Amino acid sequence: MTGREQEGWGRRGAWGAASAPAAAREGRPAVVCPRFDGVGADGAPVRLGIMGGTFDPIHQGHLACAEQAREAFGLAGVVFVPTGRPAFKRDRAVTDGAVRLEMCRAAVAGNPAFAVSPLEVDRPGITYAVDTLRALRHHYPANVELFFIAGADAILSIARWHESAEVARLARFAAATRPGFEVTESFKEELASRGAFRVDYFEVTALAISSSYLRERAARGLSLRYLTPDPVREIIEARGLYRLEAPTTAAAVGGGKESPWTP
Ligand code: ATP
Ligand code: MG
Repeated sequence: MTGREQEGWGRRGAWGAASAPAAAREGRPAVVCPRFDGVGADGAPVRLGIMGGTFDPIHQGHLACAEQAREAFGLAGVVFVPTGRPAFKRDRAVTDGAVRLEMCRAAVAGNPAFAVSPLEVDRPGITYAVDTLRALRHHYPANVELFFIAGADAILSIARWHESAEVARLARFAAATRPGFEVTESFKEELASRGAFRVDYFEVTALAISSSYLRERAARGLSLRYLTPDPVREIIEARGLYRLEAPTTAAAVGGGKESPWTP
């Protein structure tokens, strides 16, 4: 049985009808992720965090950000949604979605408040934030309040993307003030000009690390220990990811504009 089937995702993927007939009849995605699929079923108000990203690879900055957002906003849990085929990052090859998914799952294993959704990786074509938020909104009942967690810098990228007013309508934003990024008045003004964004800022422990930094270290043969959880580091090492001489581990990404998720 594959990991996906274990998760009840079914062979036909996120949009298929294999694993949740009722949802499928109504045209809803079968499952967001098994752990949090039933959130809100009792009708009580509840908040759920969604953290989108390329996660190439996932690192301690992402995890600390999600954890501190969970705490700050009283979220029942956080679902990590790795991008499928990001429209941007065309300047470099992005690691295959299944491998990024595997790394995310390894990173959150053992934390009952975190889960990973293959919603985007399983979706064919280019990834758009608005489609993901629509799918999530469609899946969960109205008593589930969705909080989209992102670095404040990434939020502006999302806001610059098409259908920004719709994105603003679909979810609230928990914006981490990441090191090196200041929330200026002009930032707030630009955001307001692009839609009725509901953004709560929160300060996350300054972890000045990024996936680019980890990739760069891996390429130079430097240690990733303590920058990402050990199981993720082990996958990177075992698969030889990010090594300059191992381009076959990555899938080239086609052209497009900026990613809706990341700066
Ligand atoms: P890259 O260097 O490839 O852009 P990244 O580290 O920015 O990678 P992404 O997958 O692009 O990671 O980001 C996913 C989300 O996590 C974004 O909203 C981003 O702002 C946020 N994020 C990334 N690193 C940190 C960090 N150190 N602290 C807080 N948030 C972070
Ligand atoms: Mg980024």
